Amino acid sequence: MKPMRRIYLDNNATTPLLPEVLAAMQPYFGEHFGNASSIHHHGQETRAAVERARESVAGLIGCRASEIVFTSGGTEGDNLAIFGLVNLGLAKPGHVITSTIEHHAVLNSCKHLEASGCEVTYVPVDGRGQVDPDDVRRALRPNTRLITIMMANNETGVLQPVEEIGKVAAEADVYFHTDAVQAAGKTAIDVKRIGCDLLSVSGHKMHAPQGVGALYVKKGTVLHPMLYGGSHERSRRAGTENVPGIVALGKAAELAREAFARDDLDRMSALRDRLEQIILGEVEGAAVNGQGAARVPNTSSIHFDCIEGEALVIALDLKGLAVSTGAACSSGAIEPSHVLTAMGLRPEQARGSLRFSVGKQNTSEDVEFALSLIPSTVARLRELSPVYNKAALSS
Ligand code: PLP
Repeated sequence: MKPMRRIYLDNNATTPLLPEVLAAMQPYFGEHFGNASSIHHHGQETRAAVERARESVAGLIGCRASEIVFTSGGTEGDNLAIFGLVNLGLAKPGHVITSTIEHHAVLNSCKHLEASGCEVTYVPVDGRGQVDPDDVRRALRPNTRLITIMMANNETGVLQPVEEIGKVAAEADVYFHTDAVQAAGKTAIDVKRIGCDLLSVSGHKMHAPQGVGALYVKKGTVLHPMLYGGSHERSRRAGTENVPGIVALGKAAELAREAFARDDLDRMSALRDRLEQIILGEVEGAAVNGQGAARVPNTSSIHFDCIEGEALVIALDLKGLAVSTGAACSSGAIEPSHVLTAMGLRPEQARGSLRFSVGKQNTSEDVEFALSLIPSTVARLRELSPVYNKAALSS
């Protein structure tokens, strides 16, 4: 029997390693095994590789190499930014501004801040999924310590007005962190233009492996470490460096920069746009979440009336297409997506939403394969549904 064709359109959950990235990291599992803190040859070799990777990640986001702290991924970067700045040891740890559509790495960190006596304001988003910088300005208080608002949303791909928020933060002299996990490699990032003090990225969302990431920390920022131990990473993140992961992240950052110079992003958005156009044309009662907002080029979140998103994901998976219902971390949870409900979708619309996310490896054949399955699978699930009513579909 021929193996089943499997197409992966869930690149916001994680991306496959690029062959060049795998080739770059492989020697650091074998031949180059040294501890980057050792002073002998083996250590010097891996230290040099770590510092080359630091230069490369810094080049991707427009900062100095000395401003990069390697982490275990986006979650750690977000936590380090938030807890590194907001000292819960103080009697009154102050006030933090975030948005209602952040990833749980930020939202749950903010919930923990609240439980520990810190005040948190969750600014809303409009129907397209965007924060209004004026809402951020209005939320400022004399004791506001930090604004943490993401650059691109993981479910919808909607880009936030981070440069304007950066201006609000600078005027008020408040720290600004942005979670750029879903932006890195998909749009140009320049920390100076954004005007942020901290910015987190994650390797596995940009074709490096899972378990590595980086946090930009602007020079002069006083950040409390979360891990105590050796003086690794300028005493900001103790622990022997994950050299193969860091080398991979450096290579992925280099490739991402090269991709900007080519037409990779246009190619991704052409694939995404074709997917959307055909789905919207062929499936009644389907609409793009975040339509009209600026988005990263690879992401499309679509809601299908009278459809249970999980059932559609499973039905498509059985036919060889991998997509998701929203944030990977919340799949399995019965709650509708907090991002989509914050945008004003009814719970059943949020539950009927699917996220398609294209990657560098995807081709137009992949998209045609997806399109050969989606409209017919939606139609079949609707026919099977006891609550389906054609007249109830939105036009
Ligand atoms: N922030 C965003 C926007 C994400 O999409 C994710 C992962 O889905 C994270 C943070 C967490 O990153 P990691 O999986 O590297 O911990």
